[in-house]
Amino acid sequence: MAADKIYFIVGSQDLYGEECLKQVAADAEEMVKFLGEKLKGNARIELLPTVVTSDTCIQDMRKAQCDDECVGVITWMHTFSPAKMWIKGLQELRKPLLHLHTQANEKLPYDDIDMDFMNLNQAAHGDREYGFILARMGVPHETVAGFYKHDKVVEKIGKFADVAKAVAFSHSLQIATFGNNMRDVAVTGGDKVESQIVYGWETRYYAVGELVNIINNVTDKEIEDQYNEYTANYTVATDNIDAVKEQAKYEVGLKKFIKEHNIGAFTDTFQDLHGLRQLPGIAAQDLMGKGIGFGPEGDYKIAAMSAILMKMAESRKGATGFIEDYTYDLTEGQELELASHMLEVPVSFAAGKPEIQVHPLGIGGKEDPARLVFDGITGDAVQVTMVDMGDRFRIICADIELVKQPKPMPKLPVARIMFRHKPDFERGTAAWCEAGGAHHAVVSTALTREDIAAFAKYTGSEFIAIG
Ligand code: MN
Repeated sequence: MAADKIYFIVGSQDLYGEECLKQVAADAEEMVKFLGEKLKGNARIELLPTVVTSDTCIQDMRKAQCDDECVGVITWMHTFSPAKMWIKGLQELRKPLLHLHTQANEKLPYDDIDMDFMNLNQAAHGDREYGFILARMGVPHETVAGFYKHDKVVEKIGKFADVAKAVAFSHSLQIATFGNNMRDVAVTGGDKVESQIVYGWETRYYAVGELVNIINNVTDKEIEDQYNEYTANYTVATDNIDAVKEQAKYEVGLKKFIKEHNIGAFTDTFQDLHGLRQLPGIAAQDLMGKGIGFGPEGDYKIAAMSAILMKMAESRKGATGFIEDYTYDLTEGQELELASHMLEVPVSFAAGKPEIQVHPLGIGGKEDPARLVFDGITGDAVQVTMVDMGDRFRIICADIELVKQPKPMPKLPVARIMFRHKPDFERGTAAWCEAGGAHHAVVSTALTREDIAAFAKYTGSEFIAIG
């Protein structure tokens, strides 16, 4: 089963008697049923036994922590639940936690309310006691307040589920780096031991020859099938079909390698392509469109972040993928950025049907590579990067707006997106530079700053927002 389960734990105590606890369990079941139905595209929600003692809390939290399918926990205090009962249980949990500050009832029954009702329905009381212990212990969590059936509340829980799934995905992510970093580049580097400690990424170096061996054994039939997939999805705008089939061969080989090693993200570098005739272009672009993370020039952090953010966005509309900051239009007051790469712009950013083109590549000394060329989509987005500050990782998230390019660029032989910085060019780009933001990033029209901030919180990363 997929890792998409969220356990729902309700707090009470045994002071109120059996009748009250029966009602607590029934209300919780009703709530879980409702939320489970509403959020079935995001997560499965399952109820655990009501916490009435420290021991039940420890058991619930241990179950959540040890279940590989569980990505996070939702807690809610139906009645008052003395928070010393929660200390040892919370110490067992290292997964994302949502504190749902809600009630079983939407409205107060003004005509009938009595002390029994008040004792049963006292989240205003119990959730404050619980909130204190979360704050005191420094447990990373979200608090979502409101009646659980309200759309806004459901939506926030859904977003929590997306982030929790991405955190779990991060901790199971395997990254392959073919070759190392582009020589002398600083920002693409990083402490791979520390990123395994903090994010769980298992980053392994592979000589590109290992991949070349697989690629050289790809059959003509496999190449033909991949090429036919290209022609079904993209317009062939070149006579150099051999160059396109060379990329098809790379993609088949990469897919085999990815499957064999359970890889979620990979990097390559144009400085280490021994045994390959071209830099992977369409092959990388197409794989990114299928959810495989990618970072060029050995950028393992961006490869990982692109895979993780694609995972976070998988149940949402919009596009998510790697991009490089390239050049600007500095027309005063209308400044825009043109973002692209040598070849590897994810096909998910295509506004229309991409064209397959073959052009020389100015650097790298290899044969002319085939690539997908297209103009980019439009809409509000975030641009996210991660840098290694030496003693910590920093995640930077800028609000941007993807815009239609003002004029065609008929001579630019690569895919591209264009965007406007927020709050404006001056502050947006200066803040990015001052924060040490990389020239590689993940752009997403599906995610928001809150999603990225939540990921940073659950992974203990430093977070900087620009916008
Ligand atoms: Mn680059």
